[in-house]
Amino acid sequence: MNRIYLDHAATTPMRPEVLEAMMPFFRDQYGNPSSIYQTGRGAQKALDQARDKAAELIGANPREIVFTSGGSEADNLAIKGVAYALRSKGNHIITSAIEHHAVYHTCKYLEKNGFRLTVLPVDADGLVDPAAVASALTSDTILVSIMHANNEIGTIQPIAEIGEILRKRSILFHTDAVQTVGHIPVNVDQLGVDLLSLSAHKFYGPKGVGALYVRRGTRLDPLIHGGAQERNRRAGTENVAGIVGMTTALGLAMEEMEGEARRQQELRDMLIEGILRNIPHTRLNGHPKQRLPGNVNLCFEFIEGESLLLNLDMKGIAASSGSACTSGSLEPSHVLLALGLPHAIAHGSLRLTLGRDTSVPDIQAVIDVLPGIVDKLRQMSPLYDAEAMRKAQSVR
Ligand SMILES: *Cc1c(COP(=O)(O)O)cnc(C)c1O
Repeated sequence: MNRIYLDHAATTPMRPEVLEAMMPFFRDQYGNPSSIYQTGRGAQKALDQARDKAAELIGANPREIVFTSGGSEADNLAIKGVAYALRSKGNHIITSAIEHHAVYHTCKYLEKNGFRLTVLPVDADGLVDPAAVASALTSDTILVSIMHANNEIGTIQPIAEIGEILRKRSILFHTDAVQTVGHIPVNVDQLGVDLLSLSAHKFYGPKGVGALYVRRGTRLDPLIHGGAQERNRRAGTENVAGIVGMTTALGLAMEEMEGEARRQQELRDMLIEGILRNIPHTRLNGHPKQRLPGNVNLCFEFIEGESLLLNLDMKGIAASSGSACTSGSLEPSHVLLALGLPHAIAHGSLRLTLGRDTSVPDIQAVIDVLPGIVDKLRQMSPLYDAEAMRKAQSVR
């Protein structure tokens, strides 16, 4: 069976060119970049080149790049690093209700440890209001963290607008750009951010490697203490192969970005239309226009997301749902709840995220197979029966 992978927001397959670029650093070029003999110098050179390239691709200076073990570490370093460094200046942090857990749980952890946290609401499309950011600021505010685009519903935030407000007030601004780097234009100056997180495995690079952009002059305490790597901001022997793989992947993603974004956007809209046209009691989550080119997120009333996923999987389609079935408790996504959706509806969500390997026949296959699955599950649902009966009643 031809498997269709529609979960690119969770992770992407690594490109063969990326693996190729990484291989020498597992084989002959195994030296420690801090060593002064030849294999060490070779590794250091590769690291320098990777840093130059990563910086250039997001409009930064190489000194402003800190390599990390991924997006989660970059988010933790940005938020805890600034919070601890600026503790004597103030203790107030602002974030939004739809952040990735790597940001949200980090902020919650700081709140438990003496910081004051404001969690801004979003509107029904998932947008943060820049005016709400402005009015939440106090003389104690040291950091604002708002994601560039949401990983579940794809909504793209007005980061540049928020950045302008914060720059005037000299308040540090972090954005989690893990879903946007390599997919839509990202430039740290145009966005007006001081810190920006990215992760390689979301743009066809290896897992376990990412970076944090830190604007020059930004005070930041390290999370990991030890050697002097990354200009004392992140100790530990560098993941040379991973870092080379990441910048190779980023270069390739940037080259094809414009055309690929346009292509995926067309497929995305074809998928959304095809589903909404054929399946009643269905709604699109996230902003209809201001959304990631490859993101589709829908709620099917009277249905449970998990059973939808299992049925799609049986048809060879890999997707994701808003409810994370962790430790046996089926909690609906905090993102969908923040949009104002009731629990019962948030449970019936489906996220389909497209990638560079997604084709028109893939999209058509989903459009063809989904109505049958949804109908079957609804027939089994007591909620749906109740609705049908209520309707029958009102007709009579
Ligand atoms: C995937 C993701 C992360 C976490 O990145 P890892 O490299 O998997 O740790 C953080 N934020 C967003 C928005 C993501 O999509």
